[in-house]
Amino acid sequence: MNTSTNRCEICKKKVGLLGFICKCEKGWFCREHRYPESHGCTYDYKEEGREMITLKNPVVKGGEAQGQMLTTLLSDLILANAGCP
Ligand SMILES: [Zn+2]
Ligand SMILES: [Zn+2]
Repeated sequence: MNTSTNRCEICKKKVGLLGFICKCEKGWFCREHRYPESHGCTYDYKEEGREMITLKNPVVKGGEAQGQMLTTLLSDLILANAGCP
């Protein structure tokens, strides 16, 4: 992999040092495509997040809203991990 010209796997935009790597290891992603639902992520991050959700026990009405929040939480978690090689 040529690390000096990282490009987003989805839009092919140059991401340089601001690129994001996902746990699915498909490659680099820009800010807009770093989220699992934005690049068709295949990593089973739900398994990982289940424990966290149980601990936080969020009171949210409507499964859709809860799923949205879960995705955001996990994305931040993935990014935090990806930032420290
Ligand atoms: Zn992109
Ligand atoms: Zn992914």
